Amino acid sequence: MTKEVPAPSEVSLRETSAETCPKAGRFQNAPPDFFRVQKELVCIICPNSCRLTVTHTQDGTQVTGASCKRGIQHGIDEVTNPMRMITSTVAVTGGILPRLPVIGSGEVPKAKLAECLAKIYRTKAAAPVMYGEVIISNICGTGVDIIASRPIAAGGRT
Ligand code: SF4
Repeated sequence: MTKEVPAPSEVSLRETSAETCPKAGRFQNAPPDFFRVQKELVCIICPNSCRLTVTHTQDGTQVTGASCKRGIQHGIDEVTNPMRMITSTVAVTGGILPRLPVIGSGEVPKAKLAECLAKIYRTKAAAPVMYGEVIISNICGTGVDIIASRPIAAGGRT
């Protein structure tokens, strides 16, 4: 069983769109290369650790330095939609240990990582906890479950 401790303060975000942003259209006459982003990174998909150069423009994304298709896809994902695996710990009440190691059932968007971690830090699990037990379901609407990566027996701590 888990319960969520309320956040100390809620952060309100203002939505901005092309209709509401007063600076929309400011870059209409920008040269084609204006939105060019170049990033150097090391591919982490396999131990070869190829050095990738990813160039992202409004016309598309190019990857050089990759030795295989998986590296090309990794380079594109890192610039367009980077994803990260979550590993962390959750507070435990009534268990033999104070914290429970947890892991995501899949990757979450990097942009949602801080929000997901904040939710994990506010969560308390009650012992006993089974290995593989879902501690947080569909965290922050990502479709990823946060699951226990070890069991924790009841006893001792509150
Ligand atoms: S590009 Fe391919 S071979 Fe190179 S590190 Fe990435 S996955 Fe491995």
